[in-house]
Amino acid sequence: MTPAPDRYAVIGHPIAHSRSPWIHAQFARQTGQHMSYSALEVAPAELPARLRQFFAEGGRGLNVTVPHKQAVLPLLDEISERASVAGAVNTITAQSHSRLRGDNTDGSGFVRDLTQNLKLDIAGGRVLLLGAGGAARGLIAPLLALGLEQLVIANRSPARAVELAQRFADRGPVRGCGYDRLGTVAFDLIVNATAAGLEQQLPPLPVAVLEAAAACYDLAYAGGETRFVRWAREHEVRCSVDGTGMLVEQAAESFLLWRGVRPDTAAVLAAFPQEAH
Ligand code: NDP
Repeated sequence: MTPAPDRYAVIGHPIAHSRSPWIHAQFARQTGQHMSYSALEVAPAELPARLRQFFAEGGRGLNVTVPHKQAVLPLLDEISERASVAGAVNTITAQSHSRLRGDNTDGSGFVRDLTQNLKLDIAGGRVLLLGAGGAARGLIAPLLALGLEQLVIANRSPARAVELAQRFADRGPVRGCGYDRLGTVAFDLIVNATAAGLEQQLPPLPVAVLEAAAACYDLAYAGGETRFVRWAREHEVRCSVDGTGMLVEQAAESFLLWRGVRPDTAAVLAAFPQEAH
């Protein structure tokens, strides 16, 4: 008799739109792993009980998405250094003796997409990070580790950007400010880590900064072009991409943690159905 597949899932609220089950099904087929991966709708009030239940029933690992990335922290037995620095967990692994370990693959997935897939070399360059929420926070240490000349964090609520910059000041040259303090300096890369696109809005970035940018990266992804990517393209930025590559790369890092094998992300990105965003 064939044993039951090892169980994995993503938890979030809402979760119906998640493409993670599709991505992990491709990875499992490609690498011959006997596993299942589903999307579980988990409301914030249910989080502790549903997490316990999933692992008590033999679940092997979870991905964690909005709004649970911070809330799971106190429910875990161990946290990796990068999850602790990011202050957020997107991957949970059941270890021996049912110990739960939290990790964060968002930052490394982002850097992998940037450097391996897009071949953007920003070492020694200037990067502008828009937003100071959970996603932005997870990118700061991996970006500074690339050896930047400067990282500027701009946020709608400037105090959050300043506070975030202070928190990471020992890791490299980083400062925080409001959008009105950006001046007209040029950036090699602008990363949109705001949730403005979810409200069909654009971050209030001065057009002069956008026009002087070499590349724009939107963490958001949508069926077709995101508003920010279109805006960047209309201002003739050399390269503008959405967050699909990061989504697939962070999933691959989680898969590697769980199964000990790195899937071929290029094949999955090439097959990524536009309507599946
Ligand atoms: P949070 O809610 O934690 O943070 C939202 C941020 O966006 C805050 O800095 C907020 O500013 C800012 N913001 C919200 N609305 C506006 C607006 N209208 N104009 C300007 N700024 C605005 O969200 P997350 O950090 O978790 O997610 C941010 C984005 O990143 C989402 O689109 C998400 O889908 C995407 N993401 C993509 C991933 C991928 O794999 N591709 C992985 C993780 C996230 P303020 O502080 O002033 O409120």
